[in-house]
Amino acid sequence: MKTNIEHIRNRIKAAAESCGRRPESIQLVAVSKTIPVERVKAAVVEGINIMGENYIQEARAKIEALADMPVSWHFIGHLQRNKAKFAVQLFDLIHSVDSIRLAREIDKQAGKIAKNQAILIQVNTGKEATKTGIYEEDAMALVREAAQLENVRIKGLMTLPPYFNAPDKVRPYFQALRRLRDRIAEEAIPGVEMEALSMGMTGDFETAIEEGATMVRIGTAIFGERS
Ligand SMILES: *Cc1c(COP(=O)(O)O)cnc(C)c1O
Repeated sequence: MKTNIEHIRNRIKAAAESCGRRPESIQLVAVSKTIPVERVKAAVVEGINIMGENYIQEARAKIEALADMPVSWHFIGHLQRNKAKFAVQLFDLIHSVDSIRLAREIDKQAGKIAKNQAILIQVNTGKEATKTGIYEEDAMALVREAAQLENVRIKGLMTLPPYFNAPDKVRPYFQALRRLRDRIAEEAIPGVEMEALSMGMTGDFETAIEEGATMVRIGTAIFGERS
């Protein structure tokens, strides 16, 4: 695990430097879905400070078990509205907000615990029926509406592009997310930050970094194949 993490950090650094970016401008989110808590703990000991989880129930057990460890938890899975309450209680950043109804529920639940919940808007850049995320052309309207919510803070965009074995085939989807981010940023909507671009996984994170990713979500290359 230690060597995997070192190796990934080196690859992030090399990818950043190859395109004139500062390596520190890219956050590594270690994706720990299905990984037992002992191995998650070992990753934190090796310096991972952001963990991404996909399932509320599974995440809750790990977050409670590692409560005294210096790690920030991000929710990266599909979020059902009836689980928004738990997501707000457990996570520093929710990457997967794709509807105003979900954003409103997060706002309501955050208000109840006096929290200002940081979120990203998930965009379905490939328009795949099997994936969640809002379509590019609807994202601006969603951002404008969600920006009105008192207890929600929009930090940027996230995408889960179509799967290809070749990173270069994914590049257009990363470019699309970055261009959309830039267009939204230009509008300077009050209360909206458009710094974060959450994109890139084990198979394509270097390409994502070249296209402007500020958060890469990496599971397999850190923890090995999931069973
Ligand atoms: C599982 C998952 C990842 C990590 O995928 P790897 O290919 O194992 O690096 C990243 N993002 C999301 C949303 C995921 O569900």
